[in-house]
Formats: sequence, C-alpha cells, structure tokens
Amino acid sequence: MRGIGRSYRALDSEWVAAPAAPDAADAPAPPGLILTELRRNRGWSPEAQAYYREQFTREVNLLAKLQDLPAVPRLYQDLTERGEDRLYFVAIPPQGESLRAALDKRSRPFPPDVVIDWGLRLGELLARLHDEAPPHVLGDLAPETLYTDGPGVRVADLGLIRSVRTDGLPPEREDTGYAAPEYLDGRPEPRSDLFSLAATLAVLLINQPPLSPSPDVEALHRINDRIPPWLSHLIALNLSEAPYDRYASAEDIIADLRRQQVTDTTVCRVCGATNRRTEIYCQECSRPLMQTTRLCEECDHDMPVNARFCPTCGVQVS
Ligand SMILES: [Zn+2]
Ligand SMILES: [Zn+2]
Repeated sequence: MRGIGRSYRALDSEWVAAPAAPDAADAPAPPGLILTELRRNRGWSPEAQAYYREQFTREVNLLAKLQDLPAVPRLYQDLTERGEDRLYFVAIPPQGESLRAALDKRSRPFPPDVVIDWGLRLGELLARLHDEAPPHVLGDLAPETLYTDGPGVRVADLGLIRSVRTDGLPPEREDTGYAAPEYLDGRPEPRSDLFSLAATLAVLLINQPPLSPSPDVEALHRINDRIPPWLSHLIALNLSEAPYDRYASAEDIIADLRRQQVTDTTVCRVCGATNRRTEIYCQECSRPLMQTTRLCEECDHDMPVNARFCPTCGVQVS
C-alpha cells in the first residue's frame, strides 16, 4: 500500500467516499473540491505516526505558505487542527488539463514563447520550494503531473503525502524519463528538479519522448529549428547526468529564461554577489554557493546538510 493520504473528489456538495468528513467542515463544500485525508492506522509505530503526520502537515503548511504562487494548488480549507485520528485538508483541483493531455490533443510542439513562460512560472515555484529548510524537492515534475488552463500552469500537489509509504519502504521511484538520475538513486536534491523541469520543457518543445541524459547542446534545435539555440543549450545543460553540470538553482534558470541567453554565473543567495557557477564558495562573502550535503549515518546516502529527515530512509537526523 502506498501513500499515507487518500484524495477524494467531491461532487455536488456531498463528499464522495469520505463518510467521516462532512462534520469536520464548517460549511458544505463547494462542488468539485478535493478532500485529502490522513487516517491514523493502529498498526503504525508511534514513530511512523509522527512521521506521517509531519509529512501531511508539512504539505498543508507549504500549500498555505505558497498560495501567492499561481503554480500551486488552491487550498480551500486547512482542517489539520481538527482531530487526533484524522487530518484533513480541502483543495480546489487544478483547472484545465494535464500538459500531457494538452500535448497529445495538439500533437505538435508548443511554441517556444509559451514554453518559456511556463518555465518561468515553474521556476518560480521551484525557487520557493528549494528555499525551504530543508529544501523541498518535487522530484517528479513531468507533463503528467502538471495542469494547464491555457497561459497558467500548476502542479497537482507537492508530493509529500503521495510519496510516503505506509509499509515503511522507501518511496517508489519510477524512471519515466523525467526524473534525474540521482533522484532515482534515492539522493534527491534541488538540482534534481532542474533536470525534471528541463526534461518537461524539452518534451513540450519537440513533442517526442524525453531525451536521454546529457544530450548535446544543439539536440533540441536540430529536432525543431523554431527552438532558439540558447534555449536548446539551456535545456541540455540542465539535462546533464551529473547535478554539478546543471545550473546551480531555479533562480539561475529564471534569470537566463528572462535574458534569453545561457550564462555561467550564479547569484549568491546570501549577499547577492555574482559568481561563476563552478565556484563552491562566494568570492564576496565566502559562504557556500549551493546546498551542501552530508552522509546519512543510517543509510549512507547524501542529504542536504540542513535536512531534518533523511530523504532516502526517512530517519530523523536533527
Ligand atoms: Zn555571497
Ligand atoms: Zn538515511
């Protein structure tokens, strides 16, 4: 069994398949909302209970915190304070269709300016998620997990509730062609999302299956000559097999999508100085330019140095 929460789609004003929910809400739910619920399982250890509860409330808190971003699902009601045995929140489902469905229906690439605009909106979301402590990595950005209503683009969820398994095994990671190699190896980090973003933008620009990691810089431009060479190059760099060959951050991708060029600089998040991307420490303030990692004593995998839980084995580390 996977997933600690269940999502129900509410039709009309009645909750479907969620008999315990209506009395938890203050008012009848408007039509078409999604209720996500965490039920306490008597078989879970106290540590597991605490961990699942933490994942659930973290997703809700993150949703609430990021409501100013158009790419985040609309949170209708946070009911996580309501009960010991069950946690709920109610969200407005994404409007429109998945980017996969939109691409299939269209059956030809999207124009580069449309894709660049989606890239900016998603980059903005990733920048905010990676700014969390510990950074929140989506890991599975793909046309299938994104919804569009035309100009807008939105993630279906933040993945925390979906990814934790009640059987205590590590999250299932499927190689769909959009996931970064280190993410599939159980070592997700913020640059894993830059890979997935690049893979997603590439597919939208060529209407072909995802490219293999580390394509050459002109690969996309060759497939579709409407793709400007700088965009082909930017995407290829972020599809690099090794995270350190990609951009340093979502902010750097946003900056270059706006400038419409590929640069090799990164901006220090502490002092704002511009550095070469290959530098490890800021030349101005000497602080690390990127999220550094350490080894988990439990499972020997890398994790962000400021992580509270190991992203691979889930052990609490601070
Ligand atoms: Zn600095
Ligand atoms: Zn671990």
